[in-house]
Amino acid sequence: MPSSPQVCPICKVSINPSADPAEAVRFSSGMQASRTKLWARVCQFTKWEGCINTDPSLRCAPTKNDFFGEAPSIDLGEDSPTTNI
Ligand SMILES: [Zn+2]
Repeated sequence: MPSSPQVCPICKVSINPSADPAEAVRFSSGMQASRTKLWARVCQFTKWEGCINTDPSLRCAPTKNDFFGEAPSIDLGEDSPTTNI
């Protein structure tokens, strides 16, 4: 298994296998993230063709935060019970 950084030809991000898993992925913007976050935002849409981040054993189950990122979580209230005032 290679330990030097690889660039995903599909996602255009570099993945450093020897880095901390939470910041193994570096986006072109310079933002660092986990493979899980990369998968949640990008790789799951790539249809697995040539993407180097599709191995399920290399990522965790994505959390809500992996999908929606840095924005603070906002309760839209659509599914919450109605409050009588
Ligand atoms: Zn990819």
